[in-house]
Amino acid sequence: MIPAGNAGLNSRRVRERMVERVRELGVRDARVLSALAEIERHRFVDPALASRAYDDTALPIGAGQTISQPYVVARTAELALQSVADPARARILEVGTGSGYAAAVLARLFGEVISIERVRSLQEGARAALRPLRIANLRLVSGDGAMGYAAGAPFDAIVAAAAGDEVPPSWGEQLAPAGIIVAPIGRDRQLLTVVARDARGAWLQRAIEEVRFVPLKRGTE
Ligand code: SAH
Repeated sequence: MIPAGNAGLNSRRVRERMVERVRELGVRDARVLSALAEIERHRFVDPALASRAYDDTALPIGAGQTISQPYVVARTAELALQSVADPARARILEVGTGSGYAAAVLARLFGEVISIERVRSLQEGARAALRPLRIANLRLVSGDGAMGYAAGAPFDAIVAAAAGDEVPPSWGEQLAPAGIIVAPIGRDRQLLTVVARDARGAWLQRAIEEVRFVPLKRGTE
């Protein structure tokens, strides 16, 4: 929550400056940029960090995790959007709810979003931050997203906010036929990667750019 005296952060102008920065870095999809302009990122960070909420940086959210950098949220959403035929009807799995910020952005762009988080305290924080926004097409679930979320499959896209050494096989199994995965892959050097099937059904990986995400862990806590 933002203290009443901090009204500057509520202004659209502050968010628009952040959006302009993201645009300069190369995200051009108008749908993504307007979703970024609409979701108030300060709602998803600790009040002590609120003055930095519209900087284009990751920030700590507790449990050793971070809210993703706005540019990376935007780039990931743009990659998913470009590959999904009918976003308004698409069902998306986000792995790593964290603060809930990226989930809120994704829910503005796709028909249905399920976001899974392995750390219970973070999920509770995300739920509290999201509640006033009343986003009807977003569902938060608890569990180890390295196994996907079989109960919600098939997904038109699986978007990961945590980096593994490889793409977990269950993600491929839980994709719709034309579905795609957008995920950071690698340990020391992570590459934002798009994984999709080619016309013959073989998996193709396309590395987009170097990124810095927290690690994809196993189990729950
Ligand atoms: N999209 C989030 C990013 C949070 S950081 C945001 O905008 O705030 C990545 C998150 O992934 C962390 O909260 C971490 O706990 C979670 N995570 C890591 N491994 C996971 C797994 N196997 N299943 C579910 N969540 C996982």
